[in-house]
Amino acid sequence: MPDITDSVQYLKGVGEKRAALYRKLGVDSICSLLRFFPRTYVDYSAVVPVAEASIGETVCVEVTIFRKGPEQRIRKGLSIFRAFATDGSTDLTITIYNNKFQFAALKTDHPYRLYGVMKGTLLRKEMQSPQILDPDQQMGQIQPVYPLTSGLTSRMVAVNMRQALELYGDHLEEVLPDALRRQEHLCHMRYAYENIHFPQDAHALKVARRRLVFEELLTLQLGLLLMRGRVREENAIRLEQMDLSPFLAALPFALTEGQQQAIKDSIADLQSGRPMNRLVQGDVGSGKTMVACALGYLLAQNGCQTAVMAPTEILARQHLETFRRLLEPLGVSVELLTGSMTQKQKRERREGLANGTISVAVGTHALLSDDVAFARLGLVITDEQHRFGVRQRADLAKKGLHVHKLVMSATPIPRTLALMIYGELDVSSIRQLPGGRKPVETYLIRGSKRARAFHFIREHIARGLQAYIVCPLIEENEELEQKLYSVEEYAQKLRESELGDTRIGVLHGRMKAADKDAVMQAFQQHQLDVLVCTTVIEVGVDVPNAAVMLIENAERFGLSQLHQLRGRVGRGTAQSTCILVSDHSNPDTRKRLKILAGTSDGFALAEEDLKLRGPGDFFGNRQHGLPMLQIASMADDVELIARTQDAARELLEQAPSLEKLEHQPLRRSIDRLFADAGTT
Ligand code: ADP
Ligand code: MG
Repeated sequence: MPDITDSVQYLKGVGEKRAALYRKLGVDSICSLLRFFPRTYVDYSAVVPVAEASIGETVCVEVTIFRKGPEQRIRKGLSIFRAFATDGSTDLTITIYNNKFQFAALKTDHPYRLYGVMKGTLLRKEMQSPQILDPDQQMGQIQPVYPLTSGLTSRMVAVNMRQALELYGDHLEEVLPDALRRQEHLCHMRYAYENIHFPQDAHALKVARRRLVFEELLTLQLGLLLMRGRVREENAIRLEQMDLSPFLAALPFALTEGQQQAIKDSIADLQSGRPMNRLVQGDVGSGKTMVACALGYLLAQNGCQTAVMAPTEILARQHLETFRRLLEPLGVSVELLTGSMTQKQKRERREGLANGTISVAVGTHALLSDDVAFARLGLVITDEQHRFGVRQRADLAKKGLHVHKLVMSATPIPRTLALMIYGELDVSSIRQLPGGRKPVETYLIRGSKRARAFHFIREHIARGLQAYIVCPLIEENEELEQKLYSVEEYAQKLRESELGDTRIGVLHGRMKAADKDAVMQAFQQHQLDVLVCTTVIEVGVDVPNAAVMLIENAERFGLSQLHQLRGRVGRGTAQSTCILVSDHSNPDTRKRLKILAGTSDGFALAEEDLKLRGPGDFFGNRQHGLPMLQIASMADDVELIARTQDAARELLEQAPSLEKLEHQPLRRSIDRLFADAGTT
């Protein structure tokens, strides 16, 4: 009996070799083949007259070939074939490179539909290597285009797909409960798979896609909700002691209004008896750490522990210092736990956490290890939340039953993504920066102006200030056509030339933790003038005396990331400057970088970033920790994101852990989607 977990080798024409090609694309079973969705479609249905197609436009035309030219050998390995065609009104030259076979198969006095970019001139229009549809072949007018690997053509995939649908189409397991499918007017599985691969027409494609997107988003939402647990209905430790005045009295400054509000919001949560689930959003430098410290203090007052988790060791150590400075004089013990500590140190810290002598634990994801147990964990604070995977966050929450949760983010999340990632978080926003800050002046320059930028940096160093220089890569990478500046090489050049008489340090992610610390400390204590580094400094690092930041290959970073980087300067009293260096001439790139020069509002930049780069790139390399979606798009499917969120909640209300028989296919679907998630 056919089973959709069968190997693709069950299909005609798929042997070892083709199976290996499929594996490269992540396809091994019939099931994964059916879920190998087209990247896009060629629509042969909207035919335009050749005369009306403008040069440069992608169009579909229907023409008849009246003459085929001879093969022209340009040089070894390059032959050009030309056919001359007309649609009755205007002539069109069809140019085909190298593909003798395809050219020979073209018949004269026969109509073809061509899809491609219109080239040539208004007098002599031309299409080069267009996609060609022969109406005699009785194929649909909307043809799928798959994301292929060499050796595998769309045609081969189509043939295999067709057979897979014929043999296995009746054995597809319906994932959606019937009632839900009807309520949402979604088509059957079989119809969806048929029409996503071989659309009857544009409408059928839309119906098919909607169903598959719905299914995928629903699976995602259910998975997230199940992992998050229905925390809201649980009871949580209710805090009694809420006297913040000793903490406030010891602070060297007054809290801003935004900081006060965020603390007030959190206190209300902590007293409610329900678990707090709050996001504190605020631009880089807005002082979110103070909010975290204040809460750590309150928890300790109530005999509860706080875990503070940072995405990098550097940041964890910096938090450690801040928390120690502010909390230890008030009698609250603060300790570090990170992956790079020795076994002995880790064991000691674990003991302290288990017997409750440590009140605040600051660390990296090492805080999540199974062997870390807390005596009375009351609050989990996650800094730069989006950098952790969903799974890691869920793990931490499991450490203490019914814990309060606070997440802090300097990357304001656009609404659609927030809905997906944070679901039901309450939000406190810190909008203003602590007084005395001047916005960072930002300039975009080309590499040819670098000497002037270095001169500018020297002037600042002469005035006793410091500078960061950020490069995107650690080592020279020759594969990239464009030269990217590596940290080591770059620092060496500076030492030999422009900044030879200054003290230059190097910092990057592949250094040992102890070395990183040493460099960071030296920079903090002004034993270094310039820090040449990768984006390891992106989050959190705080050196108020640094007033210039130069970013090489600025085009390689997203707007939000550049904004984060820029936030490392402008923390002291001096006017600070950020210099973006890019030789990219692409108008979109330059526009993007100019937007950054024009605004210092992190929220506006986040929205802009989402629009320009799409959600996939938004946080860089899957840093949002969500599973890879195969068909849904967070930019295009906003309406379905909201609908599936509602549907997921309703399903879980009826069956809190999807335990009913009819939900089992959904459960399997969730397991499949999350199989590789949370590993970022
Ligand atoms: P972020 O929100 O980026 O995490 P931090 O918490 O690191 O910001 O704070 C940035 C800097 O501002 C730190 O040096 C901190 O001591 C200082 N700071 C925080 N709150 C205030 C305040 N209310 N007044 C003056 N300086 C403050
Ligand atoms: Mg911070």
